[in-house]
Amino acid sequence: MNGKPDQCVCISVSSNSRRAALKTGLGMAVAGAVGTAGVFVPRVSLAASLTKKERDSLTPDQIIEGMKRGNERFISGKAHQHDYLAQKRSSASGQFPAAVILSCIDSRAPAELILDSGIGDTFNARIAGNIANEDLAGSLEFACAAAGAKVVLVMGHTDCGAVKGAIDNVNLGNLTGLLAKIKPAVDATKYEGKRTGSNIEFVDMVAKVNVQNTIDDLHKRSEILSSMEKDGKIKMVGAMYNLKTGKVEFMT
Ligand SMILES: [Zn+2]
Repeated sequence: MNGKPDQCVCISVSSNSRRAALKTGLGMAVAGAVGTAGVFVPRVSLAASLTKKERDSLTPDQIIEGMKRGNERFISGKAHQHDYLAQKRSSASGQFPAAVILSCIDSRAPAELILDSGIGDTFNARIAGNIANEDLAGSLEFACAAAGAKVVLVMGHTDCGAVKGAIDNVNLGNLTGLLAKIKPAVDATKYEGKRTGSNIEFVDMVAKVNVQNTIDDLHKRSEILSSMEKDGKIKMVGAMYNLKTGKVEFMT
């Protein structure tokens, strides 16, 4: 990763005590947002995963804000220098992720890297075209209802091959059935120009509609997620990652 810990703009570290607000990507951003290190556990190491207390103290909005700041660090080349071994050690006996991300398998869109989060910060479900099905809904229910995550982020991306495949009616083994789940987004996208997979403008518009369709689908499939959101326990939010700029545009 780029950058050094002392380059971070949102960390509060005392040079004599080496006391840090919180060393994870999401946590550090939130520490900056809160403006105090007092609510967090003092740490000796230069990296650690979220504790239950820390995660539970965050609101869904703070977590979303932390993701946005993480993406800003990524874009600016000032991503945290994660101590993955320390994060591994601190999370081995238990995990308390703040969010669950449903994103595409595309090799160019690794959620943790582009949001500058560390080990133990987020659950991450990846499937071509970031669609939902029963099993993925179950995974998200586990993340939120059983493990305490407070944000469901459905993240699509530009130039998505799965979306192109759905537009162009690709038939390929098991992929055909997956692409069928993206096709409602193709049909729902209002566009007067060339509606083909080679037209990137159209592809990206469909991908954005597909993100919203996935969120709608999750609402329909999951009573658990819907009622948690209604009660304000979680937030479900969509986003689009731009492969060229590195920017994650949140649909909020
Ligand atoms: Zn994709």
